[in-house]
Amino acid sequence: MSKAEGSMPFRVLDEDEQDQLAMIEASLVTIYHFFGGPRELFRAVQDPRIPELITYRWEVLGFVGILMFLCHLGARRQIALMFRGNGPVAAKLRIMFGVETCSHGDTLNEAASRLDPDQMQEAVTDMTRTLIRKKVLYRYRLLDRYFVVAIDGTGRLTFPERHCPNCLTAKHHGKTIYYHPVLEAKLVLPNGFAFSLMTEFMGRHCHPRIPRNIPTSRIVN
Ligand SMILES: [Zn+2]
Repeated sequence: MSKAEGSMPFRVLDEDEQDQLAMIEASLVTIYHFFGGPRELFRAVQDPRIPELITYRWEVLGFVGILMFLCHLGARRQIALMFRGNGPVAAKLRIMFGVETCSHGDTLNEAASRLDPDQMQEAVTDMTRTLIRKKVLYRYRLLDRYFVVAIDGTGRLTFPERHCPNCLTAKHHGKTIYYHPVLEAKLVLPNGFAFSLMTEFMGRHCHPRIPRNIPTSRIVN
C-alpha cells in the first residue's frame, strides 16, 4: 500500500473495514483500560532484534498478532490483505504506535520466532494475574471465594512439516499433520470466559520453538 492510500481517513469505509476499525479501537481501549497499554502488556518480553534496524517494535507486532487472533485469520498473509489496505486502520496505528501502516504478517512471524517462549508465557500469565489483582474477576468466584481452574490436554500445536524428532503425526483429509499435544490451564468463569494461566507442551523435550522456515503453525482444538 502506498503512503497516499494510508492517508485517506475520509474515504467512505465498506462494512468490513468499519468492523476492522471498530475491533482495533475496542482492542486498544480494552488493553489500555486493564493493562495500561500494549507496551505494558508485553513488558516481560525482550525483543532480541537490533532496535536501530527495526520498523515495528514488539509491542506493535504483538498487537497485530492479537488482531490476527481476534479476526480468526488462519494465514499471516491475510494480515496484509485485511489491514494494510485500510486507510483509517493505518491512521490509527500511526497515532498509537508511530508506524506508517500495519506490519506484514512475515514481519510478525520473523520477530515472534526469535522471542523467548518463557517470556511470552510470562506475558500471558501476567495478564490474568493483573485481572485478579485488580479484582476484575472477583464477582465470578465460586462461593465468593474460589477461582475455578480447568486443566485440559486437548489443544495441539500443529505444523505442516516435521518440526522435530518428537513430533506426533495424524492424518487430516488425507494429509499428514505434525503436532505437539499441549496441556493448558485456564481460569474459567461461569459466564463462559476463560483466561489462560499456563501452557505446557507434553512429551519429551517438548518446548518447541517454532522454526523460522516453517510457514504456518496454529493452535487447534
Ligand atoms: Zn516437533
